[in-house]
Amino acid sequence: MNHLPGKKPVSDSLGFSTRAVHAGQVPDATTGSVTPPLHLTSTFLQDGIGGFRSGYEYARAANPTRDALQTQLAALEGGARAYSFASGLAAEDTLLRALLKPGDHILMGNDVYGGTHRLVNRVFVPWGISLSTAEFGDLDAVRAALRPDATKVLWVETPSNPLMKVTDIAALVELGHEVGATVVVDNTFASPYLQQPLSLGADVVVHSTTKYLGGHSDVLGGAVVTSDEEIAERVGFLQFGVGAVSGPLDAWLTTRGIKTLAVRMERHSDNAEAVVAALEGHPKLDAVYYPGLPTHPGHDIAKRQMRRFGGMISLAVKGGPDAARRLAESTSLFLLAESLGGVESLIGYPSEMTHASVRGTALEVPENVVRLSVGIEDADDLVADLLETLDRL
Ligand SMILES: *Cc1c(COP(=O)(O)O)cnc(C)c1O
Repeated sequence: MNHLPGKKPVSDSLGFSTRAVHAGQVPDATTGSVTPPLHLTSTFLQDGIGGFRSGYEYARAANPTRDALQTQLAALEGGARAYSFASGLAAEDTLLRALLKPGDHILMGNDVYGGTHRLVNRVFVPWGISLSTAEFGDLDAVRAALRPDATKVLWVETPSNPLMKVTDIAALVELGHEVGATVVVDNTFASPYLQQPLSLGADVVVHSTTKYLGGHSDVLGGAVVTSDEEIAERVGFLQFGVGAVSGPLDAWLTTRGIKTLAVRMERHSDNAEAVVAALEGHPKLDAVYYPGLPTHPGHDIAKRQMRRFGGMISLAVKGGPDAARRLAESTSLFLLAESLGGVESLIGYPSEMTHASVRGTALEVPENVVRLSVGIEDADDLVADLLETLDRL
């Protein structure tokens, strides 16, 4: 059930930014308010029992502000349906409940987001799901790890976190579909502006909209987007039946952020390229991980499946864990914080921050790695901040 407001639908043939600004964004019928109102309500007046206006009954089932966001998300990923949730992990949890039952197997890349691994490993595995991970850059390893009758989900994340590994979505889709698995792509790092997995054959896209889609570090959220009607129906039922929905204010903020996604992603990419150009070959660094570098092992695939290379960079620091920690703790513009994808630049130390939950597993992150989420400030200032901090190490 998706209550589309009764206005000319935003056509798929329109450009990305036009869809980002207009999809789901119908001016208010009563006042003409150009920005659709924020519907802070839990319930809706009925004109007689069962007499719903525009189908709205109770806000866990549907709220116009959430519908506006869902329409916008579907339009950007080129999917038929989108469902928004209170967080990225709430979206993943709901999707996995829709796709898996006890006895099923899920295969994930060996560098997926730590929280995704923790969700499956600590919540789904005890419920009878089996989990394995493989190096998704090695298609033979993926083929060997798929279990023809049991693997129901192939979970792909590219570029990955924090080492920016790039995997070939179309090739993995082919392998997954050969054994009847549903292929899910976590598109959080790229955002739909840079990469559209459904167009490469993936069945479902998930997002932490907390990151680039929201884009301003002011709201948590998650999304599931698909064109598979059966999956959509199950996810839609669980969104209502389990209830991890996004609240109206969260949905409204996310929608506002999405309208500028394209311009932000261009700027994030410009700034990241400037940072990479300044840091590559720096004497205090062992490596710069960025898919835009021609020497990056996934560069050719990234060039094929992404519009640009985005704003995420990781650095391997020469002095080991101590130097990496000092770098993360000493920049001034790059703020030491979890998360990514906001307008402000952030720096993090994955092995003890974002990836603390995967220490001791196959997903463990090297202790000399520092991760940058390059914001939309002036590139010169960002470069100067990093170079000055490296000099002082
Ligand atoms: C942050 C993140 C998530 C989890 O999303 P939350 O909104 O924090 O629940 C999932 N996948 C990736 C790639 C992420 O970066």
